[in-house]
Amino acid sequence: MTPAPAHAPTLSDLIHAETRRFTAEHPRSLALSRQSAEVWRGGAPMHWMTDWASPCPVFAAQGVGAQVTDVDSRLYDDFCLADTPAMFGHGQEAVARAIADQAKRGTGFMLPTAGAVIVGRLLAERFGLPLWQMATTASDANRAAIRWARAVTGRPVILVFDGCYHGMVDDAFVTLRGGQPSMKPGLLGQVHDLTATTRVVPFNDPEALAAALAPGDVAAVLAEPAMTNCGMILPQPGFLDTLRDLTRRAGTLLIIDETHTLSTAPGGYARAHGLEPDMLVVGKAIAGGVPAAVWGVTAELSEHMDAAAARTGPGQSGIGTTLSGNALAIAAMRAMLSEVMTDAAYARMLAGAERLMTGLRGVIAARRLPWSVVHVGARVELVFAPSPPKDAAAMREALDARLLHALHLWLINRGVLIAPFHTMMLVSPVTEDAAIDRLIAAVDGFAGALEG
Ligand code: PMP
Repeated sequence: MTPAPAHAPTLSDLIHAETRRFTAEHPRSLALSRQSAEVWRGGAPMHWMTDWASPCPVFAAQGVGAQVTDVDSRLYDDFCLADTPAMFGHGQEAVARAIADQAKRGTGFMLPTAGAVIVGRLLAERFGLPLWQMATTASDANRAAIRWARAVTGRPVILVFDGCYHGMVDDAFVTLRGGQPSMKPGLLGQVHDLTATTRVVPFNDPEALAAALAPGDVAAVLAEPAMTNCGMILPQPGFLDTLRDLTRRAGTLLIIDETHTLSTAPGGYARAHGLEPDMLVVGKAIAGGVPAAVWGVTAELSEHMDAAAARTGPGQSGIGTTLSGNALAIAAMRAMLSEVMTDAAYARMLAGAERLMTGLRGVIAARRLPWSVVHVGARVELVFAPSPPKDAAAMREALDARLLHALHLWLINRGVLIAPFHTMMLVSPVTEDAAIDRLIAAVDGFAGALEG
């Protein structure tokens, strides 16, 4: 960025002004927030709901398509989309119909329904793995995948990439600090040293990966094919092929977590790029936001799982959750897979993402900002670095928390929601071009305000 003139507001000035504006424009959200704090620890039913840059969360009234209205009757273009569960838009007709219909006939029975057979076939066709299980969240699915990988291989260690996030999965909360593995400070209440059984290496580092797999004690690598939870870090050309090759040679299973990268294409990133995981996890959007996740395995792995189960004898059925695979989730997933997550929907999302990237790159070029834009399909990320970092250590250096805070607050005040944790912008099939243009204009306005 060209040096800001003397009259340019500081980030603090800007944040103060935007906070005042938010407070004036959201009286009902503020009132509800105060009431909420009396009954919900931290002020909301789930603590992430208070992680927004605004002084209180916007209380949502309803979502239609790719827009949300709040309790103060303000309308937002929604590029957060519930941080992915609503990736195909809010209030999907087909899903609403399926849920209402199933709810009237019973939400779950601890029995499969005929629809489950259809959903299983749809999953196998779409993702290319033959055998599936359900969980209630992607976190649960990842934990199941890790447990099975250890059971099948008889190996204790899992390997993750620095900067990863795979949900509420303690094993994956290991990071590199000053090059040393350590548990993330946020991992409250964990009494075991997880660095003993979780190895962590930088993404896009084939040598570190090979060295970490070399002892032959790694049950599985759990990875997103493109990292989406510490900013966005794309795989360097050839890195994923190397990952597949090295894991095969080491007898290590490859678990690909497609929960976010489902934004790539109808069959996810792995399918689109010919990566052949042993296990694949998909959650969040797969049932249109009804809590549900699925994990698929190869036929070969399934046989090994049977053998591992036979070795341990009865008892594994105690590990699961009662709600998993219920009829309601199956009905919602069937509607998503057959009516919503269509090729045409993906074509619209990808075209929208293209429009957004072109616009943002235009702003960056015109204002000579030291920023860049990356994407995995319909998931676009603005990066505060001139070229996108290749690993989490570089990404952490690029991440300017105050700038991020100011941008988020600015966008909320201009009627735009993006995921609170970084600068991820999801384009749904029902996101209108005009909404994309408003987001681009808002980012341009923000950059202009910083210049003064
Ligand atoms: N995997 C990835 C890649 C994720 O980004 C997340 C959530 N952000 C999860 C798993 C966990 O999903 P959930 O919170 O629905 O369990």
